[in-house]
Amino acid sequence: MSASTIRKAKKLVESDGVEQIDVDLFQIKSSSDPNKSYFVTSETCECLGFKNFYKFHHGTGLKANCSHLEAVRLYKKEK
Ligand SMILES: [Zn+2]
Repeated sequence: MSASTIRKAKKLVESDGVEQIDVDLFQIKSSSDPNKSYFVTSETCECLGFKNFYKFHHGTGLKANCSHLEAVRLYKKEK
């Protein structure tokens, strides 16, 4: 995972960009467009980066990750 992903995730948590909707459902503000938000669970995200991950890393066995998923992880750690 890249350092910039972690940096972005931290920023999202610190700027209150993460809101817990349900036990395993979070709404996370887009860092590029404040009017946009993504619904994220601990395993999946709606953003393009997450969807594209499997296109680019198909068959490598890597698990998709994005700043939103990482933000959920950080958020849970802090609670
Ligand atoms: Zn995402």
